[in-house]
Amino acid sequence: MRLVFLGAPGVGKGTQSEKVATQYGVAKISTGDLLREAVRAQTALGKDAKSYMDQGRLVPDSVVIGLVRDKLSDPSCAIGFVLDGFPRTVPQAEELGGVLLQRNVRLDRVINFQVSREDVIKRLSGRRSCPKCQSTFHVDFAPPQKNDRCDRCGEGLIQRSDDKREAIETRLKVYEEQTSPLISYYDQKGLLTNLDGSGGVDNVYQNLTKVLAPYKTV
Ligand code: AMP
Repeated sequence: MRLVFLGAPGVGKGTQSEKVATQYGVAKISTGDLLREAVRAQTALGKDAKSYMDQGRLVPDSVVIGLVRDKLSDPSCAIGFVLDGFPRTVPQAEELGGVLLQRNVRLDRVINFQVSREDVIKRLSGRRSCPKCQSTFHVDFAPPQKNDRCDRCGEGLIQRSDDKREAIETRLKVYEEQTSPLISYYDQKGLLTNLDGSGGVDNVYQNLTKVLAPYKTV
């Protein structure tokens, strides 16, 4: 199973890819998570990426492509993978195609999660994240049990700088201009499936599993 999850920020790609990775035993590759990890570890790459990320702009293609290339050579990706948040530009998609071709494999499906702009803004602006274990919550839709503390590890929750209003606007604009052309790019290759991402997490997952019916869970 080799999948790409496509869609605007806040459509639920991260949550759904986590569930698919666990249920189907494949690797989840999230470029956002990999970049945040590099920022936390204060690597040279992380220091370069931070200012782009804080503003909601895309990190240069060459940087993310390098990260994904490394990750795809990991044995954990041999059975399959879900790419969450990559590719985000046509050049990234071209590079991905090249890397997979070198490995003699191909993408099975690209799932395009669709949620209205209004809902995406609500989801992102209310999101709270755990800086330690990366769990996410929502002030209205999925509040933590104890005020502002992570249910999983107890760490204090934060609002990511790119989940603040101004950065959200930039991220949505960047999505429209640079990422949304991938919808027709993958449609032309016959790989695209549109999925309504507007319901609750379990409801969306149920519809997703129908698309993934040919694959076995672990
Ligand atoms: P995400 O968690 O997927 O919303 O990503 C958070 C931020 O990381 C984005 O707003 C970008 O700054 C950066 N980022 C993640 N994936 C990519 C990518 N494929 N290309 C460029 N920048 C990315």
